[in-house]
Amino acid sequence: MPIPIYAPPKARHYDVVIVGGAAVGSSVAYWLGLEAQGRLSVLVVERDSTYEFSSTALSTSAIRQQYSNPINVKISQFGIEVIRGFKERMAPYFPGEAAPDLGFKEHGYLYCTSPEGVDAARERVEMQQSHGAHTVWLEPDALLKQFPWLNVEDLGGGSWGSQAEGWFDSMGLLMGFRRGARAMGVEYIDNRVTALDVAGGKVTSVTLETGEVVSCGTLVNAAGPRAQQVAAMAGLSIPVAPFKRYSFVFSSATPIPGRMPNVIDLSGTFVRPEGPLFLTGNTPGDDGPADYDDFGPRHEEFEDAIWPALYHRIPCFDALKVQSAWTGHYEMNTLDHNGIVGFHPEVTNFMFANGFSGHGLQQSPATGRGVMELIVHGGFRTLDLTPFAYERVPANRPFLEEAVI
Ligand SMILES: Cc1cc2nc3c(=O)[nH]c(=O)nc-3n(C[C@H](O)[C@H](O)[C@H](O)COP(=O)(O)OP(=O)(O)OC[C@H]3O[C@@H](n4cnc5c(N)ncnc54)[C@H](O)[C@@H]3O)c2cc1C
Repeated sequence: MPIPIYAPPKARHYDVVIVGGAAVGSSVAYWLGLEAQGRLSVLVVERDSTYEFSSTALSTSAIRQQYSNPINVKISQFGIEVIRGFKERMAPYFPGEAAPDLGFKEHGYLYCTSPEGVDAARERVEMQQSHGAHTVWLEPDALLKQFPWLNVEDLGGGSWGSQAEGWFDSMGLLMGFRRGARAMGVEYIDNRVTALDVAGGKVTSVTLETGEVVSCGTLVNAAGPRAQQVAAMAGLSIPVAPFKRYSFVFSSATPIPGRMPNVIDLSGTFVRPEGPLFLTGNTPGDDGPADYDDFGPRHEEFEDAIWPALYHRIPCFDALKVQSAWTGHYEMNTLDHNGIVGFHPEVTNFMFANGFSGHGLQQSPATGRGVMELIVHGGFRTLDLTPFAYERVPANRPFLEEAVI
């Protein structure tokens, strides 16, 4: 009887393997599923399908058009289109059930501006308007008329997005994209990518925590704040790190009448309604790269920095009580606070979808679609996302976004 020769199991092959299945990874998966209609095999590897520590789950989930770069305005406009039409878009994947409608609260954003910042702010408003945004510039008197609860004494004015800005349900977006992708044949597995094999300038396979090896045609890095860990597995580097952000939900003894927007104070503190309560956060005093697993709170941030700023800007916020708080990670691109989207020039099937620096949720629809276009068509077909290409990183050529919160 012949002795059987041991043959190692053949690695499963997928045309595209996506590392990370939260908002960005699942958006990529959704658009790939939609465009390829079964002609591509796609695998999403997600290390924690509860998404407990993902940026997507811990996000404050707002969308605005008030950016300093026209391309970011256009990306958000597509985000708005997707958010507004999400229920209809998702209906085919929720037969007999209600599809998520994301509960979009279209309350707008109000950016407070110092007297010194007026010229630059007005220029930004004009730029945004020229791209179809509904941003308007309000002088202090007009601000006070519109928002009588606002202290305008030290303001030169403010820019207000009267439409197409607000906040929505981040997990609804993620779960909708995920459900749609799966319905169109994309596979999801609960596992962690621990290593990548690179040969001949390409990622040839990914190794999973369970030891399984999966070969791939294209590798998409959608690992959020852990993007650099995944890049390093291919011997690559991007300036993306987890930065802690503390969010606080509080009640106020005095309610704010009318339709309160997301107010961005001069101090960088933001505040907006959250049902009958309010949600706030800031750029914290301990800002900087954090440990990947450090989600520890910083309660004094509210007492020391946030409340004084809130009370100054909105004097009726004199009796507040924190109801809950959580810590999340921004996936901060320390080069220029903008996303990195596109293939690596040397490891040519390694795709970045990283570094969105606190605005990745609203950018996930356009990013997913753009990444799909690069993979399927070899170039952008709708929005030209080339300003976000990786090449600017080694060239140290920042594509700076000034309007970062
Ligand atoms: C407090 C806070 C407020 C924010 N506010 C806003 C806002 O108002 N508007 C906005 O647009 N954006 C906001 N953001 C940013 C936004 O949430 C993120 O940009 C966006 O969610 C990023 O999505 P992602 O899918 O890239 O990352 P994540 O949601 O972090 O997902 C990455 C996924 O990759 C998985 N993963 C990582 N490594 C591996 C691996 N080796 N193997 C397998 N899986 C892996 C993780 O488990 C995770 O699920 C905020 C973020 C925070 C923290």
